[in-house]
Amino acid sequence: MADLVESVLSLFNTRLPFKFIYTNEYWMVDLGPHIFPIKKYRMLYEKLIARGARPEDFIRPEPASDDDLRLVHTADYVNKVLTGTLSSLELQALEMPFSSQLVQFFLLMTGGTIKAAEEALRTGLSVHLGGGFHHAFPDHGEGFCLFNDVAIALEKMKKEGRINRAMIVDGDLHQGNGTAYFFGKRDYVFTFSIHQMDNYPSYKQASSLDVELHSGDSDEAYLTALQPHFPRLYEEYKPDLVIYIAGADPYQNDLLSGLDISSAGLKKRDRLIIEQARRLKIPLAIVLGGGYADRIEETVEIHFNTVKEAIRTRRKGPQQLVTSLISPKQKIS
Ligand SMILES: [Zn+2]
Repeated sequence: MADLVESVLSLFNTRLPFKFIYTNEYWMVDLGPHIFPIKKYRMLYEKLIARGARPEDFIRPEPASDDDLRLVHTADYVNKVLTGTLSSLELQALEMPFSSQLVQFFLLMTGGTIKAAEEALRTGLSVHLGGGFHHAFPDHGEGFCLFNDVAIALEKMKKEGRINRAMIVDGDLHQGNGTAYFFGKRDYVFTFSIHQMDNYPSYKQASSLDVELHSGDSDEAYLTALQPHFPRLYEEYKPDLVIYIAGADPYQNDLLSGLDISSAGLKKRDRLIIEQARRLKIPLAIVLGGGYADRIEETVEIHFNTVKEAIRTRRKGPQQLVTSLISPKQKIS
């Protein structure tokens, strides 16, 4: 069955419609025994290579510059991170073992999301095999997020005059509190977040639109809550660029999730967000966000499904979109 699905999708039989933004340096941080699955980046890369992607299909991002970081973060915070002088309280909020490798990891991840924004504006759709560190605030990091790559990328595009309006569609399990806080004072970005309310962060910031889910919510509740907003928000707000945080952590087998959402439910989410933007010719950059399934392969599979949806949508082009490329008989299980 898997072979049939792959042949139907013909993922890599012809040239890929875009390059992935990724570097092997993403998984070279030693976090010790930590719930953050740093290996998922490498595993996703290897899965894509195994399915026929070539090394030249991947673009290595440049690390973000100090100036990039200061577009969102305070000079004091940037200085403390770069000189390794965060206080013990600040390190506690970050919930990750701090090291110079970790700083490099986040500099590259931030550069990767900047590159993804540029590529989306250039080609219409891009995929960063990383990114989505939406809990970082201007003056502190928290919840595994040192720098807010999404906010930095949008601020940079705005400052360079490449966009007037943007939207963040945050599908991670956790509310995008850092981005909601930052853009709460800047009206050029619409922040949308669908998340589990009874979960981290305990204090939620106000996004432009928050859609609230609760423990035990299933695919039906999830998709019923999500569907009324797309393409409605795209049509009403008319963003020049969307950054989509395609978090894998709302998944039912995720260690941090209380939701009961299946991998098939997350596929439907991806299709709605990606395809509707494409139909309206709105550039969209995808970043991965979180994912903490007990079996790391399941997290990787969910991210892989997002990538497949991006490839399929991009290949269809804006004119020929249909609800599903695959007939019901060939439906992916
Ligand atoms: Zn998350």
